[in-house]
Amino acid sequence: MVLISYYYIEGIVERDLKFRWHIRYTLMEIRKGRNTMRLRNIPGAKEAIANSRFVVHQVQEKKGNWNRVFGNENPIHIEVGMGKGRFLMEMAALNPEINYIGIEMYDSVLLRAVQKMEEKEAEGMDLRNLRFIRMDARELPLVFDKNEVDRIYLNFSDPWPKERHAKRRLTSRQFFERYDQILAPRGVVEFKTDNRPLFEFSLEETEEAGWKLMAHTFDLHHDPSMSEGNVMTEYEEKFSSMGNPIYKLIAGR
Ligand code: SAM
Repeated sequence: MVLISYYYIEGIVERDLKFRWHIRYTLMEIRKGRNTMRLRNIPGAKEAIANSRFVVHQVQEKKGNWNRVFGNENPIHIEVGMGKGRFLMEMAALNPEINYIGIEMYDSVLLRAVQKMEEKEAEGMDLRNLRFIRMDARELPLVFDKNEVDRIYLNFSDPWPKERHAKRRLTSRQFFERYDQILAPRGVVEFKTDNRPLFEFSLEETEEAGWKLMAHTFDLHHDPSMSEGNVMTEYEEKFSSMGNPIYKLIAGR
């Protein structure tokens, strides 16, 4: 007689569901054109970034002294995975008393942000409270000191749908641990996405990481209190115009 345990069958069912979810999600992403920000290698991007005064270099030397980069004591807000920087450019223009730093790991994407800054400057806009860093966010604690950052924005972060890549998601417990090392005691993480599985994962990880869920919504654009003063990101504009609801959470400690 073959004895098959309940846990054995449950394991197969769970793996099958995860696999099906993965296929469905990948197809959905391809249909949405989600990967359009993964730009090709652009010749000259590295040099243009190296020579741009909007980009801060030797960033580990700035740890603990970011206020000197801006020449004032204003609070520092960062966006991790800023893409082409549209959100931060609007935020910086609206809030000149806050210093913003955009973090992006791809040269080709960061180059677009640099070019936009040059265009804005040519139009007479002065965004001296906004700077960029090209780096992988896994290195955040090497670049910012304890309590040095007052707010962290995560907008439409990559979903990394494979379970084995969960720790790469910017709302994983591993990333919350990094944010814990740089964020001021009353600082918060604000996360927006149109990706329901990623949002649900993020709600769970907030708790697993020992953080407090201070507010959340499953439909930001129809939530009067949470949408007040909302600045749309490039991805938010794109996916909400397709009718997708936007999810948002705010977490603190
Ligand atoms: N925040 C923008 C928006 O809402 O329009 C861009 C969203 S885009 C889907 C995500 C961006 O995060 C990509 O440009 C990607 O290169 C960047 N990114 C992902 N993981 C990162 C990491 N570990 N460090 C820095 N940037 C990262």
